[in-house]
Amino acid sequence: TETLHIIGGGMAGSEAAWQAANMGVRVVIHEMRPKVGTFAHKTGLLAEMVCSNSFRSDDDERNAVGLLHWEMRAAGGLIMASAAAHRLPAGGALAVDRDPFAETVTAQLRAHPLISVSEEEVAELPSSGHWIVATGPLTSASLGAAIRAETGADHLAFFDAIAPIVYAESVDMSVAWMQSRYDKGETEEERTAYMNCPMDRDQYDAFIDALLAADKTEFHEGETAGYFDGCLPIEVMAERGRDTLRFGPMKPVGLTNAHRPDVKPYAVVQLRRDNALGTLYNIVGFQTKMKYGAQIDVFRMIPGLEHASFARLGGIHRNTFINSPTLLDDRMRLKSRPHIRFAGQVTGVEGYVESAAMGLLAGRMAAAEILGRDLPAPGPETAMGALVTHITGGAEAKTFQPMNVNFGLFPPIDAKGGRRGRKDRYKAYTDRAKDVFSQWLQAQS
Ligand code: FAD
Repeated sequence: TETLHIIGGGMAGSEAAWQAANMGVRVVIHEMRPKVGTFAHKTGLLAEMVCSNSFRSDDDERNAVGLLHWEMRAAGGLIMASAAAHRLPAGGALAVDRDPFAETVTAQLRAHPLISVSEEEVAELPSSGHWIVATGPLTSASLGAAIRAETGADHLAFFDAIAPIVYAESVDMSVAWMQSRYDKGETEEERTAYMNCPMDRDQYDAFIDALLAADKTEFHEGETAGYFDGCLPIEVMAERGRDTLRFGPMKPVGLTNAHRPDVKPYAVVQLRRDNALGTLYNIVGFQTKMKYGAQIDVFRMIPGLEHASFARLGGIHRNTFINSPTLLDDRMRLKSRPHIRFAGQVTGVEGYVESAAMGLLAGRMAAAEILGRDLPAPGPETAMGALVTHITGGAEAKTFQPMNVNFGLFPPIDAKGGRRGRKDRYKAYTDRAKDVFSQWLQAQS
């Protein structure tokens, strides 16, 4: 059979290699470290954790990332098995001893009879063979340029500028209202494209003061070198003048407060629908370098968001990622060059666990293809399926930004038989996911 080539031996590439090799396919991992480094990696090990040593919540009953752990374990995942071997006490989180963890992943892959590791940077997109690109947020400059040449500059980003995303159900609609600016849009979809939160002058002033005073994080050394294209954090806009936001992303024009049509708002915070399901909304223009705790405090000052819960908080980071909703098919293949798959953070998922999960899926899909089979993704009721469905189609292509796994990506479960509490509802999501995922695995055995 043919060989599968994987560019990048990080979270995604390591898991992809393991899965494909265990299906009987020969794999070569092309990893540029230690010959070529990045500003964040410190070793030549495969699956190095570049920052925190945590795989986040391990609660597979009520947490979406914990559910992803469960699915990866059920699928014989190498990242989860190596994490279990070097687990550190951390309450409900799965934290690990990072160096022994990465050493275990590296040793297991190098010892596998079907896997070899080639220490080299791949600078071009290959023209034939079976390939997975899993080069991560810090994809080398030359390969980044080659990807951009293939996809077009608009479809490859070198930074993410993430506006915070809230769960629609946590917005107080007795204060906020749905309306597109100047009432553009006629369909139901267009009418629910935006939520609006009004501010009077005092509220606006207090909000600006809080923005200016909030704790911020700094860019890593080397992170912005040659790349940062100036998508400004809101707090930087606020520093440029007290009215900058009121004439920018918070301008109140073309909007009428549905609850108080007689009162003209001084400023309006807009939230834009972030997924087709309408369960998630992002706060328009609110990319930020504020620390997470500060973000929650400051954003809950916005009228209507006093009790908001956040699917993800805002940020700005060096991050190479492609516009997957436009570029990838539902088998994670580049539509313009279907012999190349993408996996990991470069596909627009966010986080170690999500990246490894997309590697698991791409590795299995690529191996199936080499073996003359076709493997569809697990259903969107599963964490893995919800994520891949989001990046390859569910997300809005125009505003696509990297995504963590969260229950907002899952097809909703109706509260049959009365209102369920949130905790029971999450349990219903994870029960359903485990059934669907088990069936997906069963069908492959
Ligand atoms: P990586 O794990 O980065 O693997 C990609 C691999 O490809 C690397 O080994 C790289 O050396 C190699 N490579 C790149 N270009 C080439 C090339 N041309 N040829 C050959 N090899 C190449 N996520 C979290 O969950 N928690 C965190 O705390 C966290 N902190 C982060 C901090 C920083 C500074 C960054 C940049 C990201 C962070 N992330 C974090 C996000 C992300 O989840 C991790 O980066 C994760 O490792 C992504 O997995 P990956 O496999 O897609 O990429």
